This record gives sequence, structure tokens and C-alpha cells, in this order.
Amino acid sequence: MPVRKNVIDAIGYTPLIRLQHASKATGCEIYGKAEFLNPGGSIKDRAALAIVRDAEARGVLKPGGIIVEGTAGNTGIGLALVADALGYRTVIVIPETQSQEKKDMLRLQGAQLLEVPAVPYSDPNNYVKLSGRLAGKLAREHIQGAIWANQFDNVANRQGHIDTTGPEIWADTEGKVDGFVASVGTGGTLAGVALALKAKNPKIKIALADPLGASLYEYYTNGVLKAEGSSITEGIGQGRITANLEDAPIDIAYRVTDEEALPVLFDLAAHEGLLLGGSSGINVVGTLRLAKELGPGHTIVTILADSGARYLSKLYNPGFLRTKNLPVPPWLEQPVTIKP
Ligand code: PMP
Repeated sequence: MPVRKNVIDAIGYTPLIRLQHASKATGCEIYGKAEFLNPGGSIKDRAALAIVRDAEARGVLKPGGIIVEGTAGNTGIGLALVADALGYRTVIVIPETQSQEKKDMLRLQGAQLLEVPAVPYSDPNNYVKLSGRLAGKLAREHIQGAIWANQFDNVANRQGHIDTTGPEIWADTEGKVDGFVASVGTGGTLAGVALALKAKNPKIKIALADPLGASLYEYYTNGVLKAEGSSITEGIGQGRITANLEDAPIDIAYRVTDEEALPVLFDLAAHEGLLLGGSSGINVVGTLRLAKELGPGHTIVTILADSGARYLSKLYNPGFLRTKNLPVPPWLEQPVTIKP
């Protein structure tokens, strides 16, 4: 490994980790791309860096400038990290429902945080729309300027995955990848990796794993945006076709419930040493479905987007799980039995 000249050069080049149980259960080779190993702790470091580099190249982001974004947390953490390293400032608008861990991390990284009520995209006070207006205001008020990262509709996001995530998966599987599964927040990951892999081999199957409460399963299955139910999973669950999703070559969609995803997530923590965030559980269930469809002997890759450390107060908190009527794994509340 060459020496990295700064933290930004440590973004990406994450390893593929073989998921033992999923591979054994399906007879396929199932790999998770360990995006939680990025310096900001999630896949969104890639989008943050791609958006910032694009804005610099277009000449709209100047030294000392402000980066404004509406984010469920991970993009904000990525942007704050990139901004700290490159001499920018960040203003982050976040729905107050997001985990305390992510909010604390953002403040620690020097981001100015604006917590707002979680309201739907159709509401003018939705966090995404509010962040866009705020960026416009700050751009007028500050000499160094301000930009709106606009991760949902700024295709520099998916370009980052076309340039890095997709080619890394192709190289690390030596071109043997048969299927790719991901859930969608902005769609940058799914669309970007899909475009990169299909350009190499159009036969590679691209699958969406959609949580309840999101509208994309219905869209890619029946052509209508329609949601049902809800999910505790953070960072994913989209209700519209973002610019990043437009023309994405998606072959198949699966709807995955929290009740299906949580036991898989708890199993990965207890038996494979992988403490992951909720979207990883949705994604791994998606790989099990695609493996069933493709049959044994295939290679399927998915995304392990962030770490469970980001959700200790929620996903890995028995009290929280109980309030949501979700399964609590026994080991999560077992007292220590070995005495010194
Ligand atoms: N998982 C987590 C934990 C995330 O924070 C995000 C992004 N918000 C995603 C998955 C989805 O990534 P993308 O925005 O590229 O669709």
C-alpha cells in the first residue's frame, strides 16, 4: 500500500469481504464491499469527494467557501471530512429523527448543524429543499461563496461511483461478478455501479433492494411510484426518481422488510464479526433473493454502507427495538456470565 498524502486519498479502495453464511446458504459467492472502512465511516465519502471535486473543477467552490447539504447524516460526515481536509466549511441540514451518533459526529467535525422536523419531500420545509434555499442565501451573503451539494440530483454523485466503486468491484472479482445488489438513498451507488458494470458486461444483473416506506420497488416492478409500510433503516428509502437514478439499468427489484433484514444483520454481527448499519441488512437479504434467482455458482456483490457503531442507540438497543415490535437477539441483552 502506498503512503496516502492526506485523508482524502484514503477514500475508496475498500475490500470485498466474503459473507460466509449467505454464501453457504445459497451456493453462490456473496461479497460485501466494506464501505464502512472509508475514513468518514460510510460509502458517502465517495459521493462527497466527487461532488466537491466537481464543484472545484467547475470553479463554483472557492477556497474558504461553504458547502451546504441536506443529509440523513453520512453524506454530511463525508462532506465535513473532505471540507476539513481541503479548507472549506460545511452547513448541514438534518432531519431530527436521525441517530444521535451521526449528529454528534457531524458537530465534532465542525459542521454547523441545523436540525429540522422530518417532513415529506412535497413539503417546502423538507430538509433537502430547505438546504437548497439556505445555500442560495449563504451564497449571496458570504464573500467566499457557498454551494449546494444537492446529492440527490447532482450527478457528480453517481459519476463518483462510475469512476471508483464500479471499477473496484470489476477488478477485485477479476470480472467474474454476475450480480450487484444495492438499496437507494440518492441512487448514486446503485446507478453508478450499474452503469460501470454493464459497460463491462451487459449480462451482469443489477438488483434494487428496497425497504418498506420507499416507492422504487413498485416503480421498477409495475412502473408506478408507490409506497407501503415503514422501516427503521436510515439513509435509504426513496420516493421519487432522482436525477442520479434516471436511466439506471436496473433489472429487478426486491422489497425487503425490517423483520427479514434484522436477523441477517444480527447474525453478521454475532457470527461474522461484521457490525453493520441497517441498509447493509436490507442489501444482504437482496443478495439472498438474487442468488436464488440466478442459482448456485454465481458471484454476487453488495454494499456494506456503514457501521453499526453509528446506530448503537437504535438498531442495537433492545429498548428501541422493543418499542418498534422488532426482534431482539438474545446476545444483545445477555449478562456477562464469566466471572474473574
Ligand atoms: N446506506 C446508508 C447507510 C446511507 O447513508 C446511504 C446514503 N444516504 C445509502 C445506503 C444509499 O446510498 P446512495 O445515496 O448512493 O443511494
